[in-house]
Amino acid sequence: MDFSIHPADQAFRQEVRAFIDRELPGDIARRGRHDYHSPREDVRRWMQILDRHGWSAPHWPAAFGGTDWTPLQRHIFQDELRRARAPVLDRCALDLLGPVLCTFGSPEQQARFLPPIRAGEEWWCQGFSEPEAGSDLASLRTRAERDGDHFVVNGHKIWTTEAHYADWIFALVRTDPEAKPQQGISFLLIDMRSPGVTCRPIWTLDEGHTLNEVLFEDVRVPAANLVGEAGGGWSYAKFLLTHERTTSAVVSHTKRDLWQVRHLAARRRWRNGSLLDEPLFATKLARLEAEVTALEWAVMRVLHASATDSRANAVASVLKLRGSELSERAALLAAEALGDHGLAVCPDPEAAYWLRGRAPAPPLDDDEAIGVTAKTMFRRATTIYGGASEVQRSIIAKSILRL
Ligand SMILES: Cc1cc2nc3c(=O)[nH]c(=O)nc-3n(C[C@H](O)[C@H](O)[C@H](O)COP(=O)(O)OP(=O)(O)OC[C@H]3O[C@@H](n4cnc5c(N)ncnc54)[C@H](O)[C@@H]3O)c2cc1C
Repeated sequence: MDFSIHPADQAFRQEVRAFIDRELPGDIARRGRHDYHSPREDVRRWMQILDRHGWSAPHWPAAFGGTDWTPLQRHIFQDELRRARAPVLDRCALDLLGPVLCTFGSPEQQARFLPPIRAGEEWWCQGFSEPEAGSDLASLRTRAERDGDHFVVNGHKIWTTEAHYADWIFALVRTDPEAKPQQGISFLLIDMRSPGVTCRPIWTLDEGHTLNEVLFEDVRVPAANLVGEAGGGWSYAKFLLTHERTTSAVVSHTKRDLWQVRHLAARRRWRNGSLLDEPLFATKLARLEAEVTALEWAVMRVLHASATDSRANAVASVLKLRGSELSERAALLAAEALGDHGLAVCPDPEAAYWLRGRAPAPPLDDDEAIGVTAKTMFRRATTIYGGASEVQRSIIAKSILRL
């Protein structure tokens, strides 16, 4: 395999970096320093800037406002966004729903929903998981019964990220209770302002509010909001989840986290030097950096091959499994680098929009220390969402190892 980066790709990186340096507002970059849970208003402003440049949805087909970048260029773009601490974009809409609508949506749905997603004007959440249906998603029970030109939806979704901000939810609902579990599921777009929708917060270990329960009580949804065929929801969800697992390798995030680890460790004293000189810590960091680099190359190989590789689903599981484990380890190493200073949860005063509002107590006189402990706790979730590690291992065992 040729590991050299083509001069054209290097030039592309410079172009993207110059664009971000020029266009990313300073106040947004400052608030993005903890690198997760970006404020909605910051995301909207940043997406509008990207959209004006034609760069808000680079991975969509060009006919829907995407770019014709190569997979490597898209990866470089993500890398540069993370390096600059740009807000994390609305992944749900751009990465999950967008490709589904581009591929399976009606022309009316594409015209109605894709432009406001690209411009950051409408916010979406993903309504798949239910209290009794997470890993075993096919057992979901939220019902959508046809009533004239509407569906009437009743049910309960859980762990719904950013539902409290969302204008819309794309949900898996059961439209045919008699059919086999997978075949009776449909993919429905539901306006979160519809009468009968209730959103309740779930507070997480990091003292943050990003997760929610969403309850539907006799919610009327126009039948025109059904994506594709009735009963086709399972295959659209599989299409989407394969994509989710590729992006869930979160390589660019982990690279950024490792940069942060280096920065924090350089500021911690150890004997006459810094923590970077402590052999055990230095070995852990070097090993992790090497593993993340290896994963980055694996992601690029998959991105090049996925269009034709019939085992894309299983390969995506490998990336998800490995990427989420490395992400957790990088976050733990950042906490180790903070040492005793990490004992304070250390909420960022500017991030009060998602925290319970505990008294701010910055542990180190350093911007990079802000939010590290909270982020370490939240990163624990990376081996759960998008499909838990145990489930990924089962997919790999069956599809790749033929066990
Ligand atoms: C931070 C976060 C954000 C999320 N955001 C969303 C969202 O926006 N929308 C959404 O729909 N969902 C979301 N989820 C839900 C997520 O997809 C589920 O948590 C996940 O699929 C696991 O389901 P569960 O929580 O019901 O756990 P369960 O399925 O009950 O699993 C519990 C444990 O049992 C293990 N297990 C289950 N089945 C098997 C098996 N067959 N073999 C071996 N082990 C097994 C699991 O690995 C896990 O360790 C989010 C979750 C988190 C943590």
